[in-house]
Amino acid sequence: MARALIRYHIGSPSSIKFWLDPWVRNKPFCHQFDDTAIGHFGSNKPALIRDFQEESSWVFPVSNHMSSQEIRNRISEIHILSSDFITWDGLLRCKIATVWNSIRHKSPHVPWFDTVWNSLSIYKCSFTLWTALKERLLTRDRMLRFRMQTQPGCLLCNNMESIQHIFTGCPYFDLICRACPVPFARDWPSWQNGNFFSPTIDKRKQIIGSLFLAVAVHLVWKERNLRLHNPGSSNGTLYVIKNIFFMVREKLFSCDRFRKWVHRDPSFLCLIY
Ligand SMILES: [Zn+2]
Repeated sequence: MARALIRYHIGSPSSIKFWLDPWVRNKPFCHQFDDTAIGHFGSNKPALIRDFQEESSWVFPVSNHMSSQEIRNRISEIHILSSDFITWDGLLRCKIATVWNSIRHKSPHVPWFDTVWNSLSIYKCSFTLWTALKERLLTRDRMLRFRMQTQPGCLLCNNMESIQHIFTGCPYFDLICRACPVPFARDWPSWQNGNFFSPTIDKRKQIIGSLFLAVAVHLVWKERNLRLHNPGSSNGTLYVIKNIFFMVREKLFSCDRFRKWVHRDPSFLCLIY
């Protein structure tokens, strides 16, 4: 898919590899012809295009072998420019994002997209939040549906464990949410609809709140797994809250964007201390 969008423009003298680069028909000549063609063309595999150029004209060996004639035909119409360059979908300079956007299938964003993935995201935490919102974390209700051997009780409070319970009903997660400086919705339909924060809250604070939310979801899920796989081990909510603030501070202080916010309005620091 990508190769079809890459186009080689040949300059003089050209540093592009004659046999090895896909400069004609998006395929290297060494894949278009077998190795004997290289010999018939009086060339070698690492040869450069400049070996067949003189000023801005093509200079080809006189061989009348069929493969040599075919190669000459495929090249003769290629116009030689002043220098080499390669374009992606007609663009001379492009970012990896441009490449990705031009080959991927685009769908509308889910309502919670910006809360999960934004410039202040910690990817491992966003990944857990994303998996939670897709209802794909392996909670005990799902384990039982898959006929796995387990108890139905929440490892954090002993009620029935489900994704909705852990993140919008469990008293353990509830206590942690209360420590978050930016209040967010506590019901599952609001999470699914992306309505985590009151629209009256400053947008920048909502982004910081999203970070707290993602870190809280990640660390609570980690705590739940600790209790599942290491019976007898557990940490209280204060320990988790301390770690949430630690991770949030570490992330925010590494972001220029946050430092600019603090520079303009030092009260942002109050959110994380
Ligand atoms: Zn619970």
